[in-house]
Amino acid sequence: ADVRVLLPGFPAILSGVAGLVPVAGLRAPWGEAARLLHGRIPALGQLPAYVLDAPALYDRPGNPYEDAGHRPYADNHRRFALLGWAAAQLARGADPHWAPELVHAHDWHAGLAPAYLAYLPGQPARSVFTIHNLAYQGRFGPDVFTGLGLPSSAFQVNGLEFHGDVSFMKAGLYFADRITTVSPSYAQEIQTPAQGQGLDGLLRGRAGVLDGILNGVDDRVWDPATDTLLPHRYRMPEGRRMAGKALCKASLQHALGLEVRADAPLFVLVSRLTEQKGLHLVLDGLDELIARGGQLALLGSGDAALEDAFRQRAAVAPRRVAATLGYDEALAHRLFAGGDVTLVPSMFEPCGLTQMYGLRYGALPLVHRVGGLADTVTDCTLEDLAEGTANGFVFDDFTARDFGRALRRAFALFARPADWRRVRATGMRRPAGWAEPAQRYIEVYRHAAAR
Ligand code: ADP
Repeated sequence: ADVRVLLPGFPAILSGVAGLVPVAGLRAPWGEAARLLHGRIPALGQLPAYVLDAPALYDRPGNPYEDAGHRPYADNHRRFALLGWAAAQLARGADPHWAPELVHAHDWHAGLAPAYLAYLPGQPARSVFTIHNLAYQGRFGPDVFTGLGLPSSAFQVNGLEFHGDVSFMKAGLYFADRITTVSPSYAQEIQTPAQGQGLDGLLRGRAGVLDGILNGVDDRVWDPATDTLLPHRYRMPEGRRMAGKALCKASLQHALGLEVRADAPLFVLVSRLTEQKGLHLVLDGLDELIARGGQLALLGSGDAALEDAFRQRAAVAPRRVAATLGYDEALAHRLFAGGDVTLVPSMFEPCGLTQMYGLRYGALPLVHRVGGLADTVTDCTLEDLAEGTANGFVFDDFTARDFGRALRRAFALFARPADWRRVRATGMRRPAGWAEPAQRYIEVYRHAAAR
């Protein structure tokens, strides 16, 4: 496929795209002026990219969604409506040299693209909408609707109206020709009232055009055999003991101030610190984890109460618990390489990436059986151990009790080194690249084009 990406011009995006040249001047329906630029992304094999240059909307302190005080920007509806609207302008020929036959919009931020496309005369491009997390919906008061430049008929139940509000997520789900989400299990779960976030009815109605496609892992970035962020590299099958991984563990323990012990199972956790991630289960189980001789190394940021809780636990037992609060890509790599177990006890998880990194790097995932976690991790039951399919630890009930049982299963396996190495090898061998998911997306595009 001849793919180009369209991105909002956040400062880091503008500086990460090379050779930017202006393609068109745009004026949004509410009067905002923006420039459409074109360039290439060196970090992604010179992938062609359009960037929306609108400094008044995108050049701000804080993150792409919130100000420095973690409050969503008051004009987020415009900041992201512009993105969807610009995609539709590309489809109708804003760049005289290239126009898409299909627009693939991701999450609520791009949710209006399918709506704008649906109302273009002749509908020049098809649309695919991918849900990465249904919990974040881009919901705004009804007053924002005027000014978006959509016909009033769009603001109804059969459209983007959601309980009297404007929902960007619903716009994507309602207007797109096809819908995908990031794992087969999540595709089923979001069709139930329990996990549908109020949109399960619409999703059930569109089940015929909804696919779950598991994310891949970029093996140019995440491969312990070539990862230059690691103090030592290692591969499968090398010596079965993987000396390089043992060295990574010792180096990590030393760097974090943990006791340097090969015989202490090291649990690692790299995560946004939010309620979704099930971190209270980890806090509840931490005494037992320590009492059994384990260690915990956490890297994350987010909710202040969770940050405080982990900071305190690390202060009380600094040789057993390390909490690094912040965002640190390099440390994340070292955690998966040095860790024995990757904790992902999420309440819900559309796909989850860290359990996949844990599998690749030989840090067996311990996960709640939900969403993409259920699709990637096979528990160490006796039968799956015997069949050589076990690659981690899975708990069913989202309770301290069931989490604790999975924790004890991890300790029990760690005490059987030969079995541990076998399970670890199974995880590391799991194919996880993007080649297969990419083929699945091409199929989805074909279906959309043939609509
Ligand atoms: P979500 O998208 O819900 O945050 P995922 O597991 O799908 O959860 O993706 C999270 C990604 O962000 C992973 O690549 C993980 O390694 C990375 N990550 C999360 N927190 C941090 C952090 N504090 N430092 C470095 N990387 C992080």
